[in-house]
Amino acid sequence: MSIRQGLPEDFNPQSYDAIVVGAGYAGAVCARRLAEACGNKVAIIERRPHIGGNAYDYLDEAGILVHKYGPHIYHTTNERVHEYLSRFTEWTDYSHKVLANIHGTFMPVPFNHRSLKLAFGEERGEALYQKLVATFGKDKKVPIMELRSKNDPDLEEIADYVYENVFLHYTMKQWGKTPDQIDPAVTGRVPVFVGDDERYFPQAPHQGMPKEGYTKLFENMLNHDLIDVFLGVDVRDLLKVSETSVSVCDKPYGGEVVYTGALDELFGYDLGALPYRTVDMVFETMDVDDFQPATTVNYTVSENFTRITEFKKMTGQVVPGKTTILREYSRTYIPGVGETPYYVINEPQNQELYKKYRKRVSGVLNFHVVGRLAEYRYYDMDGVVASALELSDELIHN
Ligand code: FAD
Ligand code: UDP
Repeated sequence: MSIRQGLPEDFNPQSYDAIVVGAGYAGAVCARRLAEACGNKVAIIERRPHIGGNAYDYLDEAGILVHKYGPHIYHTTNERVHEYLSRFTEWTDYSHKVLANIHGTFMPVPFNHRSLKLAFGEERGEALYQKLVATFGKDKKVPIMELRSKNDPDLEEIADYVYENVFLHYTMKQWGKTPDQIDPAVTGRVPVFVGDDERYFPQAPHQGMPKEGYTKLFENMLNHDLIDVFLGVDVRDLLKVSETSVSVCDKPYGGEVVYTGALDELFGYDLGALPYRTVDMVFETMDVDDFQPATTVNYTVSENFTRITEFKKMTGQVVPGKTTILREYSRTYIPGVGETPYYVINEPQNQELYKKYRKRVSGVLNFHVVGRLAEYRYYDMDGVVASALELSDELIHN
């Protein structure tokens, strides 16, 4: 195994059985499985100067482990994914907690039993909670858009409060649209929780942080004799995809190609650019032990940023007298100028455009797309790993 910057002058793609584009979850899982299960020699081409994709973490100047591309908290209900990733890391027992700052009061999100009492007072909050239990059952998750559709004055009172104070302004900042205007599955990620579980991912049987960080997890996954990683190389300089075949370095390439980048970008946006939201990540280190009362505080009624994350609280790292926080400012992604396309915008016309790009590569039998960008899907880490495990199953059994 080797990880190096740039391609050597004598780089010969033909000496590899497979070429994987991208060293994030999608690429790393496929590379490892092809190497391990098929004995394939694999080259990973990654244009960033590091492995790990958007999950990359590093020590900042204050020695605090931070996530360059936004806070990443591992959680899954998928046993296979958990078992697979657990080969490459141990996990801490961290459970993610989020508070919404609502006019200065910190309320748990997902909105739960305690949030109701903070919002409506002890007595009224309890009465409304009992109504939720009677309607949906205890320990149930209720998406805000579903709650809004119920024709009952008590439920409407809760729905109006939560919609206005938790979802409306945050969603406007995050997506530039109201919750009614976006895919309900997006707000459904953070349902009202009819219960006392204060975790952001209630009921997820596996949640935590990789004990030595995500980058270390990736180092372990890529640590295989048959895997070579080439960083700082944009594959568009090497790879050409026609309707039926692939060439690499101007020669036909017959090995498997696993592509985890954006399809529109690969084709120079010639059918149009797929829309995304990007995020300006603004880090700040302060000379204090502790900044805020939870790992993440969502600013749901005020400020231009969506949330502040304090990394030490997530990793459990002890660094006296210093803490690093991250503010996230979401905005429209501009294609072709080097910005990071963070969030897919799941709207029918965008899916139509995506399908056109996807159709274009469907006849290229050794070209495979997987991952958040390549599939144009709002995946969590575990979803990407599941998808990469499925694709690699197919490649292994071919
Ligand atoms: P990526 O990680 O984006 O990897 C793709 C790689 O391909 C990149 O490294 C890229 O540089 C490379 N690449 C692209 N084009 C080229 C090219 N032309 N040449 C060479 N290389 C190229 N998930 C969770 O489970 N929990 C969380 O808490 C969480 N938080 C998130 C917070 C934010 C702000 C965002 C945006 C996402 C979050 N996610 C979270 C989702 C998680 O980041 C993704 O699911 C996962 O990282 C996607 O992996 P991937 O391999 O598909 O893509
Ligand atoms: N959301 C919101 N207020 C919150 C938390 C979430 O309005 O306090 C909405 C918002 O539209 C957001 C979506 O729910 O984009 C999904 O939130 P999640 O925290 O899962 O987003 P991610 O961590 O992927 O950015």
